[in-house]
Amino acid sequence: MIILVVNAGSSSLKYQLINMEDESVIAKGNCDRIGIDGHLSHKTASGVKVEKDCDFPTHAEAFSCLVDALTTGEGAVISSMDEISAVGHRVVQGAEVFTKTTLVTDEIIEKIDELRELAPVHNHGHALALWACRKILPNVPQVVVFDTAFHQTIPQKAFMYGFPYEDYEQFHVRKYGFHGTSHRFVTAKLAEIMGKDLKDLKVVSCHLGNGSSITAVQDGKSVDTTMGFTPLDGVLMGTRCGAVDPSAVTYVAGKHGFGVSEMDTYMNKKSGMLGISGVSSDFRDLDAAVADGNARAALAKDMFNLSVKKIIGSYVAEMGGVDAIIFTAGVGENDRSVRWDVCEHLEYLGIKIDPEKNKYRGKQMDISIDWARVRVLVIPTNEELMIAKDTERLVNEAKAQ
Ligand code: AMP
Repeated sequence: MIILVVNAGSSSLKYQLINMEDESVIAKGNCDRIGIDGHLSHKTASGVKVEKDCDFPTHAEAFSCLVDALTTGEGAVISSMDEISAVGHRVVQGAEVFTKTTLVTDEIIEKIDELRELAPVHNHGHALALWACRKILPNVPQVVVFDTAFHQTIPQKAFMYGFPYEDYEQFHVRKYGFHGTSHRFVTAKLAEIMGKDLKDLKVVSCHLGNGSSITAVQDGKSVDTTMGFTPLDGVLMGTRCGAVDPSAVTYVAGKHGFGVSEMDTYMNKKSGMLGISGVSSDFRDLDAAVADGNARAALAKDMFNLSVKKIIGSYVAEMGGVDAIIFTAGVGENDRSVRWDVCEHLEYLGIKIDPEKNKYRGKQMDISIDWARVRVLVIPTNEELMIAKDTERLVNEAKAQ
């Protein structure tokens, strides 16, 4: 079965064509600058690259261009879209409406669009891509996979904020959590590697990248996570401040004379590792700056590592123990100094990583010392493959009915 995975944003449409026989990527690319002008970058598994400027007034033109790139010209990998069995879409916000992966109907797209108030940057873009896909490939089943769905198992005592209850009821203000597809992928992989049922494991899954979130998984379910109502909450991130005292937000806004949207930009784009270091949001740049003796870059890394360590401790307390810790995403998979500092001095919890094993990067492996009671693993994430697997499963189930 060949599955097209689509990750649409407000002005971009990333895609991967995946062959489920061997889970290989046949081609991938990005339609960028939708609504501005338009650019396509397309790459095949055999290394053919196509770059072209296009006209993308809406997601529909971008989707047509993607279809052309896959079926015609030097980057073609299939002869017609009939070879595609289904399309799987990533959707950021499913709120309390969507608790699992869902087959697409017109009503489902309308509902996703209605949730745009809770995810202004993302959900409308998803809906536009879904309409475009439905129009261009009317006979191909589509499936939506939600970033928030995995976290719908979080108990109410952990997802509520301390605002008046009526505002939860009226405005749906609560913790939703994000990166659910990634946490689901790596925890399932962990169970496979450990030869155990995920239901029998207590896991802290650390998705550390440009955006970072940490999730506590118990009985095979997400029981708490660091991102909240939006992906701004939790640990320090590349350009996001993470959790801060809400009164500091109103105070700083007053001092700068910022309105709501300027403050939003300040917290989402100018803070975090970039804001603290004054160097970069990219951990590779920060590591280089630390090596050059840059004190603020070192402070940013120390703050990041401490914020992750504190969450691990709190999740161990929440779950009453831990069997495994996972490091994934760009930083978690690659930055050995982060993994080392986060896990340092946690021996009393049974956590100790092996400095030799920790030298590797980007590779699936158990990096804990042999005697450690808690296993610490690096597991590369693959959200696209998870979306493709969900899509395949749902389409097969629908066929069987
Ligand atoms: P992601 O958002 O998962 O793509 O992760 C992006 C982050 O991973 C960036 O901050 C990169 O600097 C970081 N990253 C990627 N490779 C490395 C590496 N070799 N060492 C340190 N950080 C890395």
